[in-house]
Amino acid sequence: MKPVRSGGCGAAGAHLHGMQGARGSNPLTSTRKTEACPFGQAFSFSLYNPTGGVIRMRFALDLDFEEWRTLCREEWGEAPFRADQICGWIYARRVFAFEGMTNLSLDLRRKAAETFGEIVPREVKREISRKDGTEKSLWSLHDGQSVESVLLLQDGRRTACISTQVGCPLGCTFCATGQSGFVRNLSCGEIVGQFLAMEKQQETSIDNLVFMGMGEPFLNMGAFLKAVENLKHPKMRNLGARRMTVSTAGIVPGILALAEANPGIRLAVSIHAAEDELRDRLMPVNRRYPLSELFAAIRTYQEKTGDRVSIEYMLMEGVNDSRSQAMILADRLKGLKSYVNLISWNATCDSFRKPSRERVEQFRQVLVSRGIEAEVRRERGEDIAAACGQLRKREGRI
Ligand code: SF4
Repeated sequence: MKPVRSGGCGAAGAHLHGMQGARGSNPLTSTRKTEACPFGQAFSFSLYNPTGGVIRMRFALDLDFEEWRTLCREEWGEAPFRADQICGWIYARRVFAFEGMTNLSLDLRRKAAETFGEIVPREVKREISRKDGTEKSLWSLHDGQSVESVLLLQDGRRTACISTQVGCPLGCTFCATGQSGFVRNLSCGEIVGQFLAMEKQQETSIDNLVFMGMGEPFLNMGAFLKAVENLKHPKMRNLGARRMTVSTAGIVPGILALAEANPGIRLAVSIHAAEDELRDRLMPVNRRYPLSELFAAIRTYQEKTGDRVSIEYMLMEGVNDSRSQAMILADRLKGLKSYVNLISWNATCDSFRKPSRERVEQFRQVLVSRGIEAEVRRERGEDIAAACGQLRKREGRI
């Protein structure tokens, strides 16, 4: 089976899964180094300029609320309530330059600007679907790497689909991101930054968020969970947990860890094949966590959280769309509170083909007749190849 072009973001297809210097305005040449940081998981980087001086740079969105209060009190000698004000500017008013935070003293604005790099990533490319308004953005990160995110519009609701890694190590055979390898994890701030930058871009708040873009969120658990907590925090973005969904390709320890942490968000699992032999070929992660272990973890998750789990299944003609696959899938889902989203393969390539509508409907009927809730998801952003990894590839960034 040849590697192909589509994949990644569940929004449209498959996975259903500041450093100012590097961003053009700062003349410093950069050598990026991740360093221990006094703010827990928050990252800091150093920029080395040609004359040898070192400028420490941190990223505002990497801080949680307590870290903001500590920073205000202990480093800046300010009252802790300044953290409320700064977070209000960034997360609620979408002001991403400290000089615009007019209820802070000039001195505090200067200190903050000197402490942090750019707050959100810079958009380098955006494509908008003429068919359904789906928008796809490519963001440049402080070290020159790039990630994609997708905005879906449906029934008056906006849903953002964002990335958690640059590239992906899981190598699903149908996915452009997976086929181009893994570069690095995103920090908490780089994950949240995509969402806030999209809200700024849209000049309005976005109702729902799915972690389904480039990468596997459960292989970047610390940053992913911190991003969720920051987005939920009432003094930060105050986004309801039920408005967030994480999609995994089937990382069993991650599912169990999410059940333990129980942040209240929804879980989606990309299955795409009901038998190990086929799933091994489509999604190499299955060789490590076969279907029996995966479904055991999903059941444990459900026992702990009581939540219904979404099952993502992308249908490829003649590969995984047979009646027998549907019957085996139904058997595996028996007794589980689940909801199956069926997605038709929608990219043009040599290796996979889109199944006919009749065939997709037949697959759904087999599930429904066995008591499994299933729906055929409408395709979105077909004309802009909204599945993740493709814009980045076209722009020559991989
Ligand atoms: S390779 Fe990674 S990003 Fe692509 S579908 Fe698989 S898990 Fe998702």
